[in-house]
Amino acid sequence: MSKTCAKCGKIIEEIVDDPVADKYPACAACWKEWTTYAVMVMNEMRLDMSLPEHRKVLRKYERAFFGLEKGIGEIEKKPDNPESHHGHHH
Ligand SMILES: [Zn+2]
Repeated sequence: MSKTCAKCGKIIEEIVDDPVADKYPACAACWKEWTTYAVMVMNEMRLDMSLPEHRKVLRKYERAFFGLEKGIGEIEKKPDNPESHHGHHH
């Protein structure tokens, strides 16, 4: 049985060795991309993974990243345009 990646749509040939990855049909490349993105989200939103509320937020981004949830646009995936992240200060 072959699954296709929820992110890029390719056939998953390499199984991601991560228990969290079980929830998402993602290829190794996209999973790696997500982990990099997750770090960015955590830094950007100052998420503390010891807090359930914060883990919930990250999970939302996780789902959005793999196209399972819509309507999250607060952090745009634009690593080539770092200028756009300096707009909001409190
Ligand atoms: Zn993929």
